[in-house]
Amino acid sequence: MAVRDFSPTAAPVYRPIRRVAMLVVHSNPLAEPGEGDAGGMTVYVRQMAYSLVQRGIEVDIFTRRDSAGTPSEVTLRPGVRVIQVEAGSPDLSKERIPAFLPEFSARLLSLVEESGLDYDVVHSHYWLSGKVAAIASARWRVPFVHTFHTLGREKNRAKRPGDLMEPELRLDGEARVIADACAIVASTVEERKALIELYSAHPERIHLIPPGVDHATFRPGDREAAKESLSLSGKRVMLFVGRLQPLKGADIAISALGHLVEWGRLKADEAELLIVGGSSGASGAGEAERLAQQAAELGLSDMVRFIAAQPHHHLPGFYQAADVCLVPSYTESFGLVALEAQACGVPVVGSAVGGLKAIVRHGQTGFLVAPGASESFAERAWMVLSDSRLSGSMGRIAVCSSGDFAWDRSAGELHDLYTAGSRSDDCSPSSMWSGKKPFGSRTIVLRRS
Ligand code: UDP
Repeated sequence: MAVRDFSPTAAPVYRPIRRVAMLVVHSNPLAEPGEGDAGGMTVYVRQMAYSLVQRGIEVDIFTRRDSAGTPSEVTLRPGVRVIQVEAGSPDLSKERIPAFLPEFSARLLSLVEESGLDYDVVHSHYWLSGKVAAIASARWRVPFVHTFHTLGREKNRAKRPGDLMEPELRLDGEARVIADACAIVASTVEERKALIELYSAHPERIHLIPPGVDHATFRPGDREAAKESLSLSGKRVMLFVGRLQPLKGADIAISALGHLVEWGRLKADEAELLIVGGSSGASGAGEAERLAQQAAELGLSDMVRFIAAQPHHHLPGFYQAADVCLVPSYTESFGLVALEAQACGVPVVGSAVGGLKAIVRHGQTGFLVAPGASESFAERAWMVLSDSRLSGSMGRIAVCSSGDFAWDRSAGELHDLYTAGSRSDDCSPSSMWSGKKPFGSRTIVLRRS
Protein backbone atom coordinates (compact mmCIF):
# COMPACT_ATOMS: atom_id res chain seq x y z
CA MET A 1 0.00 0.00 0.00
CA ALA A 2 1.52 3.37 -1.03
CA VAL A 3 2.20 5.80 1.80
CA ARG A 4 0.24 8.98 1.39
CA ASP A 5 2.16 12.21 1.12
CA PHE A 6 0.48 14.80 3.33
CA SER A 7 2.72 17.73 2.39
CA PRO A 8 0.55 20.67 1.31
CA THR A 9 2.11 20.92 -2.15
CA ALA A 10 1.87 17.22 -2.95
CA ALA A 11 -0.20 16.42 -6.00
CA PRO A 12 -2.67 13.60 -5.43
CA VAL A 13 -1.29 10.21 -6.35
CA TYR A 14 -3.66 7.97 -8.27
CA ARG A 15 -2.92 4.28 -8.40
CA PRO A 16 -3.76 2.47 -11.61
CA ILE A 17 -6.73 0.15 -11.24
CA ARG A 18 -5.69 -3.37 -12.18
CA ARG A 19 -8.14 -5.65 -10.45
CA VAL A 20 -11.66 -5.20 -9.13
CA ALA A 21 -13.60 -7.52 -6.83
CA MET A 22 -17.30 -7.34 -7.66
CA LEU A 23 -19.67 -8.79 -5.07
CA VAL A 24 -23.09 -10.07 -6.11
CA VAL A 25 -23.99 -12.31 -3.22
CA HIS A 26 -27.63 -13.14 -3.88
CA SER A 27 -27.97 -13.20 -7.66
CA ASN A 28 -25.60 -15.57 -9.37
CA PRO A 29 -24.31 -14.03 -12.62
CA LEU A 30 -24.06 -17.49 -14.11
CA ALA A 31 -27.88 -17.63 -14.20
CA GLU A 32 -29.68 -16.38 -17.30
CA PRO A 33 -31.71 -13.22 -16.60
CA GLY A 34 -35.48 -13.02 -16.91
CA GLU A 35 -36.70 -15.12 -14.00
CA GLY A 36 -35.93 -15.87 -10.36
CA ASP A 37 -33.44 -13.43 -8.89
CA ALA A 38 -31.68 -12.79 -12.20
CA GLY A 39 -32.64 -9.66 -14.09
CA GLY A 40 -31.20 -6.28 -14.90
CA MET A 41 -28.49 -6.53 -12.24
CA THR A 42 -27.14 -9.70 -13.85
CA VAL A 43 -26.91 -7.98 -17.22
CA TYR A 44 -25.36 -4.87 -15.62
CA VAL A 45 -22.66 -6.78 -13.73
CA ARG A 46 -21.69 -8.93 -16.71
CA GLN A 47 -21.62 -6.07 -19.19
CA MET A 48 -19.73 -3.70 -16.89
CA ALA A 49 -17.17 -6.45 -16.25
CA TYR A 50 -16.75 -7.12 -19.99
CA SER A 51 -16.26 -3.42 -20.67
CA LEU A 52 -13.83 -2.94 -17.77
CA VAL A 53 -11.73 -5.79 -19.16
CA GLN A 54 -11.51 -3.88 -22.44
CA ARG A 55 -9.85 -1.16 -20.38
CA GLY A 56 -7.24 -3.54 -19.01
CA ILE A 57 -8.97 -4.16 -15.67
CA GLU A 58 -9.46 -7.73 -14.48
CA VAL A 59 -12.72 -8.45 -12.70
CA ASP A 60 -13.48 -11.24 -10.25
CA ILE A 61 -17.19 -11.55 -9.48
CA PHE A 62 -17.85 -13.25 -6.14
CA THR A 63 -21.27 -14.80 -5.67
CA ARG A 64 -22.97 -17.33 -3.42
CA ARG A 65 -23.04 -20.84 -4.81
CA ASP A 66 -26.71 -21.43 -5.63
CA SER A 67 -26.53 -24.78 -7.32
CA ALA A 68 -24.63 -27.87 -6.28
CA GLY A 69 -22.16 -29.44 -8.66
CA THR A 70 -21.22 -26.26 -10.52
CA PRO A 71 -17.50 -25.35 -10.75
CA SER A 72 -16.10 -23.05 -8.06
CA GLU A 73 -14.63 -20.81 -10.72
CA VAL A 74 -15.95 -20.01 -14.19
CA THR A 75 -14.21 -17.74 -16.69
CA LEU A 76 -16.95 -15.81 -18.51
CA ARG A 77 -14.44 -14.11 -20.79
CA PRO A 78 -10.67 -13.73 -20.47
CA GLY A 79 -10.19 -11.43 -17.47
CA VAL A 80 -13.69 -11.96 -16.03
CA ARG A 81 -14.15 -14.79 -13.54
CA VAL A 82 -17.15 -15.78 -11.47
CA ILE A 83 -16.04 -17.29 -8.17
CA GLN A 84 -18.68 -19.14 -6.18
CA VAL A 85 -18.47 -18.97 -2.41
CA GLU A 86 -20.19 -21.58 -0.22
CA ALA A 87 -22.55 -20.08 2.34
CA GLY A 88 -25.75 -21.87 3.29
CA SER A 89 -27.42 -24.54 1.21
CA PRO A 90 -27.55 -23.81 -2.54
CA ASP A 91 -31.35 -23.56 -2.68
CA LEU A 92 -31.60 -20.89 0.05
CA SER A 93 -34.23 -18.24 -0.71
CA LYS A 94 -33.13 -14.59 -0.91
CA GLU A 95 -35.04 -13.86 2.30
CA ARG A 96 -32.82 -16.26 4.25
CA ILE A 97 -29.49 -15.02 2.91
CA PRO A 98 -28.90 -12.27 5.53
CA ALA A 99 -28.28 -14.94 8.19
CA PHE A 100 -25.47 -16.36 6.08
CA LEU A 101 -23.65 -13.13 5.32
CA PRO A 102 -21.10 -13.58 8.14
CA GLU A 103 -20.27 -17.04 6.74
CA PHE A 104 -20.00 -15.65 3.21
CA SER A 105 -17.72 -12.82 4.41
CA ALA A 106 -15.42 -15.16 6.35
CA ARG A 107 -15.12 -17.56 3.40
CA LEU A 108 -14.50 -14.73 0.97
CA LEU A 109 -11.70 -13.28 3.11
CA SER A 110 -9.94 -16.60 3.58
CA LEU A 111 -10.36 -17.55 -0.08
CA VAL A 112 -8.76 -14.29 -1.20
CA GLU A 113 -6.00 -14.59 1.40
CA GLU A 114 -5.18 -18.20 0.51
CA SER A 115 -5.07 -17.53 -3.20
CA GLY A 116 -2.83 -14.47 -2.78
CA LEU A 117 -5.24 -12.31 -4.79
CA ASP A 118 -5.42 -8.60 -4.21
CA TYR A 119 -7.78 -5.94 -5.44
CA ASP A 120 -7.71 -2.19 -5.93
CA VAL A 121 -11.45 -1.67 -5.42
CA VAL A 122 -14.38 -3.67 -4.11
CA HIS A 123 -17.67 -2.91 -5.88
CA SER A 124 -20.82 -4.43 -4.39
CA HIS A 125 -24.29 -4.80 -5.89
CA TYR A 126 -27.55 -4.79 -3.90
CA TRP A 127 -27.59 -4.17 -0.16
CA LEU A 128 -26.74 -7.75 0.85
CA SER A 129 -23.41 -7.52 -0.98
CA GLY A 130 -22.81 -4.07 0.50
CA LYS A 131 -22.74 -5.60 3.97
CA VAL A 132 -19.98 -7.97 2.84
CA ALA A 133 -18.12 -5.23 0.97
CA ALA A 134 -17.85 -3.13 4.15
CA ILE A 135 -15.97 -5.99 5.80
CA ALA A 136 -13.80 -6.81 2.78
CA SER A 137 -12.88 -3.20 2.14
CA ALA A 138 -11.78 -2.69 5.75
CA ARG A 139 -9.65 -5.86 5.66
CA TRP A 140 -8.12 -5.22 2.22
CA ARG A 141 -7.85 -1.45 2.86
CA VAL A 142 -9.31 -0.58 -0.52
CA PRO A 143 -12.19 1.72 -1.51
CA PHE A 144 -15.72 0.38 -1.41
CA VAL A 145 -18.09 1.39 -4.21
CA HIS A 146 -21.73 0.35 -4.07
CA THR A 147 -24.65 0.13 -6.53
CA PHE A 148 -28.08 -0.60 -5.01
CA HIS A 149 -30.04 -1.50 -8.18
CA THR A 150 -33.26 -1.31 -6.12
CA LEU A 151 -34.12 0.40 -2.85
CA GLY A 152 -36.45 -1.12 -0.24
CA ARG A 153 -38.10 2.19 0.67
CA GLU A 154 -38.75 2.94 -2.98
CA LYS A 155 -40.35 -0.49 -3.48
CA ASN A 156 -42.53 -0.04 -0.40
CA ARG A 157 -43.67 3.29 -1.76
CA ALA A 158 -44.83 1.58 -4.99
CA LYS A 159 -46.28 -1.50 -3.27
CA ARG A 160 -49.28 -3.19 -4.91
CA PRO A 161 -51.83 -5.59 -3.44
CA GLY A 162 -50.12 -8.96 -3.23
CA ASP A 163 -46.66 -7.42 -2.83
CA LEU A 164 -44.82 -8.13 0.37
CA MET A 165 -43.45 -5.13 2.28
CA GLU A 166 -39.66 -4.94 2.26
CA PRO A 167 -38.59 -5.78 5.82
CA GLU A 168 -36.91 -3.46 8.33
CA LEU A 169 -33.83 -5.67 8.10
CA ARG A 170 -33.36 -4.58 4.50
CA LEU A 171 -34.15 -0.91 5.17
CA ASP A 172 -31.70 -0.80 8.06
CA GLY A 173 -29.14 -2.75 6.04
CA GLU A 174 -29.40 -0.22 3.20
CA ALA A 175 -28.91 2.68 5.62
CA ARG A 176 -25.80 0.95 6.99
CA VAL A 177 -24.38 0.42 3.50
CA ILE A 178 -25.00 4.09 2.66
CA ALA A 179 -23.07 5.06 5.78
CA ASP A 180 -20.20 2.65 5.07
CA ALA A 181 -19.71 2.96 1.30
CA CYS A 182 -17.03 5.30 0.03
CA ALA A 183 -19.02 6.02 -3.11
CA ILE A 184 -22.51 5.11 -4.30
CA VAL A 185 -23.30 4.69 -7.98
CA ALA A 186 -26.83 5.77 -8.91
CA SER A 187 -28.24 4.88 -12.34
CA THR A 188 -30.56 7.87 -12.62
CA VAL A 189 -31.32 11.26 -11.14
CA GLU A 190 -34.44 9.68 -9.62
CA GLU A 191 -32.39 7.10 -7.77
CA ARG A 192 -30.04 9.80 -6.54
CA LYS A 193 -33.04 11.76 -5.29
CA ALA A 194 -34.46 8.71 -3.53
CA LEU A 195 -31.12 8.04 -1.82
CA ILE A 196 -31.04 11.59 -0.51
CA GLU A 197 -34.72 11.97 0.40
CA LEU A 198 -35.49 8.51 1.72
CA TYR A 199 -32.12 7.63 3.27
CA SER A 200 -30.43 10.99 3.89
CA ALA A 201 -27.46 9.89 1.80
CA HIS A 202 -24.73 12.51 1.43
CA PRO A 203 -25.18 14.02 -2.07
CA GLU A 204 -21.44 14.29 -2.66
CA ARG A 205 -21.01 10.61 -2.19
CA ILE A 206 -23.47 9.73 -4.98
CA HIS A 207 -22.13 9.39 -8.52
CA LEU A 208 -24.46 9.23 -11.47
CA ILE A 209 -23.48 6.55 -13.97
CA PRO A 210 -26.33 5.24 -16.13
CA PRO A 211 -26.14 1.66 -17.41
CA GLY A 212 -25.80 0.95 -21.13
CA VAL A 213 -26.99 -1.33 -23.88
CA ASP A 214 -25.03 -3.63 -26.14
CA HIS A 215 -25.64 -2.01 -29.52
CA ALA A 216 -23.96 -4.84 -31.42
CA THR A 217 -26.68 -7.20 -30.17
CA PHE A 218 -29.67 -4.90 -29.72
CA ARG A 219 -30.17 -3.19 -33.07
CA PRO A 220 -32.98 -2.75 -35.57
CA GLY A 221 -33.80 -5.69 -37.81
CA ASP A 222 -36.28 -6.74 -40.47
CA ARG A 223 -39.59 -6.62 -38.59
CA GLU A 224 -41.52 -8.76 -41.07
CA ALA A 225 -38.83 -11.46 -41.08
CA ALA A 226 -38.70 -11.40 -37.28
CA LYS A 227 -42.49 -11.77 -37.12
CA GLU A 228 -42.40 -14.63 -39.57
CA SER A 229 -39.85 -16.52 -37.51
CA LEU A 230 -42.24 -16.28 -34.53
CA SER A 231 -45.28 -17.25 -36.67
CA LEU A 232 -46.70 -13.75 -36.27
CA SER A 233 -46.86 -12.66 -39.91
CA GLY A 234 -49.59 -10.14 -40.60
CA LYS A 235 -50.24 -9.49 -36.91
CA ARG A 236 -49.69 -6.44 -34.78
CA VAL A 237 -47.29 -7.39 -32.03
CA MET A 238 -47.22 -5.96 -28.51
CA LEU A 239 -44.33 -7.06 -26.31
CA PHE A 240 -43.68 -7.31 -22.59
CA VAL A 241 -40.27 -8.55 -21.42
CA GLY A 242 -39.19 -9.07 -17.83
CA ARG A 243 -39.34 -10.95 -14.57
CA LEU A 244 -42.94 -11.71 -13.64
CA GLN A 245 -43.99 -10.14 -10.33
CA PRO A 246 -46.79 -7.68 -9.50
CA LEU A 247 -44.51 -4.61 -9.54
CA LYS A 248 -43.60 -5.27 -13.17
CA GLY A 249 -47.26 -4.78 -14.17
CA ALA A 250 -47.63 -7.45 -16.89
CA ASP A 251 -51.33 -7.53 -15.90
CA ILE A 252 -51.60 -3.91 -17.08
CA ALA A 253 -50.32 -4.99 -20.51
CA ILE A 254 -53.02 -7.67 -20.65
CA SER A 255 -55.70 -5.19 -19.53
CA ALA A 256 -54.52 -2.73 -22.20
CA LEU A 257 -54.96 -5.38 -24.87
CA GLY A 258 -58.40 -6.11 -23.40
CA HIS A 259 -59.40 -2.43 -23.80
CA LEU A 260 -58.26 -2.39 -27.43
CA VAL A 261 -60.40 -5.43 -28.17
CA GLU A 262 -63.35 -4.03 -26.20
CA TRP A 263 -63.12 -0.70 -28.06
CA GLY A 264 -63.18 -2.58 -31.37
CA ARG A 265 -59.67 -1.47 -32.31
CA LEU A 266 -58.19 -4.97 -32.51
CA LYS A 267 -59.74 -8.28 -33.46
CA ALA A 268 -58.63 -11.65 -32.13
CA ASP A 269 -56.72 -12.72 -35.23
CA GLU A 270 -55.09 -9.31 -35.79
CA ALA A 271 -52.78 -8.94 -32.83
CA GLU A 272 -50.79 -10.76 -30.20
CA LEU A 273 -49.26 -9.77 -26.89
CA LEU A 274 -46.04 -11.65 -26.14
CA ILE A 275 -45.06 -11.95 -22.48
CA VAL A 276 -41.44 -13.08 -22.21
CA GLY A 277 -40.06 -14.00 -18.78
CA GLY A 278 -40.60 -16.17 -15.73
CA SER A 279 -41.78 -15.78 -12.14
CA SER A 280 -39.46 -13.94 -9.80
CA GLY A 281 -39.23 -13.61 -6.03
CA ALA A 282 -41.70 -14.43 -3.27
CA SER A 283 -44.34 -12.01 -4.59
CA GLY A 284 -43.94 -13.46 -8.08
CA ALA A 285 -44.81 -17.03 -7.07
CA GLY A 286 -47.77 -18.10 -9.21
CA GLU A 287 -47.71 -14.82 -11.17
CA ALA A 288 -47.57 -16.56 -14.57
CA GLU A 289 -50.66 -18.58 -13.65
CA ARG A 290 -52.49 -15.46 -12.40
CA LEU A 291 -51.72 -13.68 -15.65
CA ALA A 292 -52.92 -16.64 -17.73
CA GLN A 293 -56.14 -16.66 -15.73
CA GLN A 294 -56.60 -12.92 -16.25
CA ALA A 295 -56.15 -13.40 -20.01
CA ALA A 296 -58.67 -16.26 -19.98
CA GLU A 297 -61.22 -14.22 -18.01
CA LEU A 298 -60.94 -11.40 -20.55
CA GLY A 299 -61.36 -13.87 -23.41
CA LEU A 300 -57.82 -13.13 -24.60
CA SER A 301 -56.19 -16.56 -24.26
CA ASP A 302 -55.61 -16.77 -28.02
CA MET A 303 -54.08 -13.31 -28.12
CA VAL A 304 -51.61 -13.56 -25.23
CA ARG A 305 -48.61 -15.83 -25.71
CA PHE A 306 -46.49 -16.67 -22.67
CA ILE A 307 -42.87 -17.38 -23.53
CA ALA A 308 -40.43 -18.77 -20.97
CA ALA A 309 -37.45 -16.60 -19.98
CA GLN A 310 -35.05 -16.37 -22.92
CA PRO A 311 -31.26 -16.17 -22.93
CA HIS A 312 -30.35 -12.51 -23.19
CA HIS A 313 -28.84 -12.80 -26.68
CA HIS A 314 -32.10 -14.32 -28.01
CA LEU A 315 -34.13 -11.25 -27.13
CA PRO A 316 -33.35 -9.11 -30.20
CA GLY A 317 -35.53 -11.47 -32.26
CA PHE A 318 -38.49 -10.62 -30.02
CA TYR A 319 -37.86 -6.87 -29.93
CA GLN A 320 -37.39 -6.77 -33.69
CA ALA A 321 -40.77 -8.48 -34.19
CA ALA A 322 -42.57 -5.99 -31.93
CA ASP A 323 -44.60 -2.99 -33.08
CA VAL A 324 -44.66 -1.60 -29.56
CA CYS A 325 -43.03 -2.57 -26.28
CA LEU A 326 -45.00 -2.07 -23.07
CA VAL A 327 -43.11 -1.42 -19.82
CA PRO A 328 -45.89 -0.98 -17.24
CA SER A 329 -43.72 -1.24 -14.10
CA TYR A 330 -44.85 0.43 -10.88
CA THR A 331 -41.23 1.09 -9.96
CA GLU A 332 -38.14 0.79 -12.12
CA SER A 333 -34.75 1.91 -10.94
CA PHE A 334 -33.48 1.91 -14.52
CA GLY A 335 -35.38 -0.23 -17.03
CA LEU A 336 -32.97 -2.02 -19.36
CA VAL A 337 -35.87 -3.56 -21.29
CA ALA A 338 -37.06 -0.12 -22.42
CA LEU A 339 -33.56 0.79 -23.52
CA GLU A 340 -33.04 -2.50 -25.40
CA ALA A 341 -36.39 -2.10 -27.17
CA GLN A 342 -35.50 1.46 -28.25
CA ALA A 343 -32.06 0.31 -29.43
CA CYS A 344 -33.94 -2.15 -31.68
CA GLY A 345 -36.07 0.71 -33.05
CA VAL A 346 -39.24 -0.17 -31.14
CA PRO A 347 -41.38 2.62 -29.62
CA VAL A 348 -41.99 2.11 -25.89
CA VAL A 349 -45.10 2.87 -23.88
CA GLY A 350 -43.89 2.88 -20.29
CA SER A 351 -44.87 4.05 -16.84
CA ALA A 352 -43.65 7.49 -15.85
CA VAL A 353 -41.50 6.12 -13.05
CA GLY A 354 -37.81 5.95 -12.15
CA GLY A 355 -35.35 5.35 -14.94
CA LEU A 356 -38.08 5.03 -17.58
CA LYS A 357 -38.39 8.81 -17.40
CA ALA A 358 -34.76 9.11 -18.48
CA ILE A 359 -35.03 6.51 -21.25
CA VAL A 360 -38.40 7.15 -22.91
CA ARG A 361 -38.76 10.59 -24.49
CA HIS A 362 -42.47 11.26 -24.26
CA GLY A 363 -43.91 11.87 -27.72
CA GLN A 364 -40.59 11.18 -29.44
CA THR A 365 -39.47 7.61 -28.70
CA GLY A 366 -42.76 6.46 -27.20
CA PHE A 367 -45.06 7.60 -24.42
CA LEU A 368 -44.97 7.84 -20.65
CA VAL A 369 -48.22 7.22 -18.78
CA ALA A 370 -49.28 6.96 -15.16
CA PRO A 371 -48.38 3.59 -13.63
CA GLY A 372 -51.39 1.26 -13.47
CA ALA A 373 -53.45 3.31 -15.96
CA SER A 374 -54.32 0.47 -18.33
CA GLU A 375 -56.64 2.62 -20.48
CA SER A 376 -53.86 5.15 -21.06
CA PHE A 377 -51.51 2.32 -21.97
CA ALA A 378 -54.12 1.09 -24.47
CA GLU A 379 -54.68 4.56 -25.96
CA ARG A 380 -50.96 5.24 -26.37
CA ALA A 381 -50.23 1.77 -27.70
CA TRP A 382 -52.99 2.26 -30.27
CA MET A 383 -51.48 5.58 -31.39
CA VAL A 384 -48.29 3.68 -32.20
CA LEU A 385 -50.01 0.62 -33.70
CA SER A 386 -52.39 2.58 -35.92
CA ASP A 387 -50.03 5.21 -37.31
CA SER A 388 -47.12 3.79 -39.26
CA ARG A 389 -45.58 7.22 -39.87
CA LEU A 390 -45.58 8.00 -36.16
CA SER A 391 -44.22 4.61 -35.19
CA GLY A 392 -41.55 4.76 -37.91
CA SER A 393 -40.31 8.15 -36.76
CA MET A 394 -40.47 7.14 -33.10
CA GLY A 395 -38.46 4.01 -33.88
CA ARG A 396 -35.77 6.02 -35.65
CA ILE A 397 -35.48 8.57 -32.83
CA ALA A 398 -35.45 5.70 -30.33
CA VAL A 399 -32.41 4.16 -32.02
CA CYS A 400 -30.61 7.52 -32.03
CA SER A 401 -31.40 8.34 -28.42
CA SER A 402 -30.35 4.88 -27.25
CA GLY A 403 -26.90 5.86 -28.52
CA ASP A 404 -26.57 8.02 -25.38
CA PHE A 405 -26.26 4.80 -23.41
CA ALA A 406 -23.44 2.33 -24.03
CA TRP A 407 -21.66 -0.04 -21.67
CA ASP A 408 -18.27 1.15 -22.83
CA ARG A 409 -19.13 4.70 -21.84
CA SER A 410 -20.57 3.61 -18.49
CA ALA A 411 -17.48 1.50 -17.77
CA GLY A 412 -15.27 4.48 -18.63
CA GLU A 413 -17.09 6.58 -16.04
CA LEU A 414 -16.84 3.78 -13.51
CA HIS A 415 -13.12 3.48 -14.23
CA ASP A 416 -12.76 7.23 -13.58
CA LEU A 417 -14.60 6.82 -10.30
CA TYR A 418 -12.42 3.91 -9.19
CA THR A 419 -9.32 5.88 -10.11
CA ALA A 420 -10.48 8.96 -8.21
CA GLY A 421 -10.95 6.80 -5.13
CA SER A 422 -7.51 5.23 -5.47
CA ARG A 423 -5.80 8.42 -4.30
CA SER A 424 -6.65 7.59 -0.70
CA ASP A 425 -4.68 5.14 1.32
CA ASP A 426 -7.48 4.53 3.76
CA CYS A 427 -11.14 3.98 3.15
CA SER A 428 -12.77 6.27 5.65
CA PRO A 429 -15.65 7.79 3.71
CA SER A 430 -14.67 11.28 4.75
CA SER A 431 -11.32 10.90 2.99
CA MET A 432 -12.70 9.35 -0.17
CA TRP A 433 -13.36 11.59 -3.14
CA SER A 434 -13.62 14.45 -0.65
CA GLY A 435 -14.21 17.84 -2.15
CA LYS A 436 -14.56 16.31 -5.59
CA LYS A 437 -17.47 16.74 -7.90
CA PRO A 438 -19.30 13.49 -8.43
CA PHE A 439 -17.96 11.72 -11.49
CA GLY A 440 -20.14 10.59 -14.33
CA SER A 441 -22.84 13.21 -13.88
CA ARG A 442 -24.05 13.25 -17.44
CA THR A 443 -25.67 16.47 -18.37
CA ILE A 444 -27.86 14.71 -20.93
CA VAL A 445 -29.45 12.53 -18.28
CA LEU A 446 -29.76 15.38 -15.83
CA ARG A 447 -31.49 17.48 -18.46
CA ARG A 448 -33.95 14.81 -19.40
CA SER A 449 -35.24 14.02 -15.95
N1 UDP B 1 -34.14 -10.53 -19.77
C1 UDP B 1 -33.60 -11.62 -20.41
N2 UDP B 1 -34.41 -12.67 -20.71
C2 UDP B 1 -35.74 -12.67 -20.44
C3 UDP B 1 -36.30 -11.53 -19.80
C4 UDP B 1 -35.48 -10.48 -19.47
O1 UDP B 1 -32.40 -11.66 -20.71
O2 UDP B 1 -36.43 -13.64 -20.73
C5 UDP B 1 -33.26 -9.38 -19.46
C6 UDP B 1 -33.66 -8.13 -20.21
O3 UDP B 1 -33.16 -8.18 -21.52
C7 UDP B 1 -33.04 -7.04 -19.36
C8 UDP B 1 -33.10 -7.63 -17.96
O4 UDP B 1 -33.38 -9.02 -18.10
O5 UDP B 1 -31.71 -6.82 -19.76
C9 UDP B 1 -34.16 -6.97 -17.13
O6 UDP B 1 -33.70 -5.73 -16.75
P1 UDP B 1 -34.65 -4.53 -16.32
O7 UDP B 1 -33.76 -3.39 -15.93
O8 UDP B 1 -35.63 -4.24 -17.39
O9 UDP B 1 -35.47 -5.08 -15.07
P2 UDP B 1 -34.96 -5.69 -13.67
O10 UDP B 1 -34.82 -7.15 -13.83
O11 UDP B 1 -33.66 -5.02 -13.32
O12 UDP B 1 -36.05 -5.34 -12.71
